[in-house]
Amino acid sequence: MTVNILFAAKPDRWADYETPLRTAFARAGIDADLRTDFAPEEVDYIIYAPNGPLSDFSPYTRCKAVLSLWAGVEGIITNTTLTQPMARMVDTGLERGMVEWVTGHTLRHHLSIDQHIHGQDGIWRPGHVPPLAADRPVTVLGLGALGRACGLALTSLGFPVTGWSRTQKSIPGIRCLAGDAGLTSALSGAEILILLLPRTPATDNIMTAERFALLGAEACVLNPGRGALIDDAALIAALDAGQLGHATLDVFRVEPLPPAHAFWAHPKITVTPHIASETRPDTASTVIAENIRRGEAGQPFLHLVNRAQGY
Ligand code: NDP
Repeated sequence: MTVNILFAAKPDRWADYETPLRTAFARAGIDADLRTDFAPEEVDYIIYAPNGPLSDFSPYTRCKAVLSLWAGVEGIITNTTLTQPMARMVDTGLERGMVEWVTGHTLRHHLSIDQHIHGQDGIWRPGHVPPLAADRPVTVLGLGALGRACGLALTSLGFPVTGWSRTQKSIPGIRCLAGDAGLTSALSGAEILILLLPRTPATDNIMTAERFALLGAEACVLNPGRGALIDDAALIAALDAGQLGHATLDVFRVEPLPPAHAFWAHPKITVTPHIASETRPDTASTVIAENIRRGEAGQPFLHLVNRAQGY
């Protein structure tokens, strides 16, 4: 039977996704009618992104699942018209992109690469040989699809990695902690801190002044998770006090980050414009097709969002 699939992400993404989705549906044996418009009551599945045209899900009475192209769902779960099962994006392409961004920025700070880039002035400055990765403790908050992959990549480079999550994990090579007491231990003495938590009421402002103070001297903070994880004023105060060495931020409370925001001009902050990673059409289409195949076969969907937990 033909499955009606509505593509309701931002219209300019249709050109990127149409062919990969059709290919993935054919490969999965799904007889799909994929379109950007349908009568709502005829739609079986919605491929969705919060910056797309759709905000009222109530007329989609036949829809079996909403399949998000985004990993972060804080902008979706507050929509009270969305009562259908909702899956978030877990995509190997997105994961690899995040591993590369996190690894690159970790190595930038670990090796003090900036000192040499900015010091090309004819003055020979011997003296600072970076420690080995084994002597640079790294902590990752969030051990989901992305935090786990980044933690494992850094472990493979020799960094001692501690990870923290809501529920206890066991990941070979990573010291896994959970709960409030676990957070204090995870932060204590960390020299590079990577934030890969989702934005939920429980994670809002999780990085307070007190928690920044637990980190090692001149620690570096990488935030590719969500802007609201950080108390912005506490971060700037810790950088100004010399307690933190640097922060590289990819995500912000307001995006695009306003031109007058203090982060832009701060000498110890690097801003990247929410480009740490993104969903990749080829691999993501395979994930979408697998979820629709499951739905049609009466099997449980993958990557369902738990609305009570907020992610
Ligand atoms: P997952 O849902 O797979 O993982 C989230 C992790 O955070 C889990 O380990 C979870 O714990 C943990 N967590 C959630 N709430 C708490 C809490 N209150 N206390 C402790 N741990 C908690 O998400 P992903 O790894 O796929 O993505 C993480 C985030 O990365 C996304 O939500 C999004 O905000 C961001 N992102 C940013 C991108 C960018 O380009 N900057 C691109 C894509 C995503 P548990 O395992 O116990 O459930």
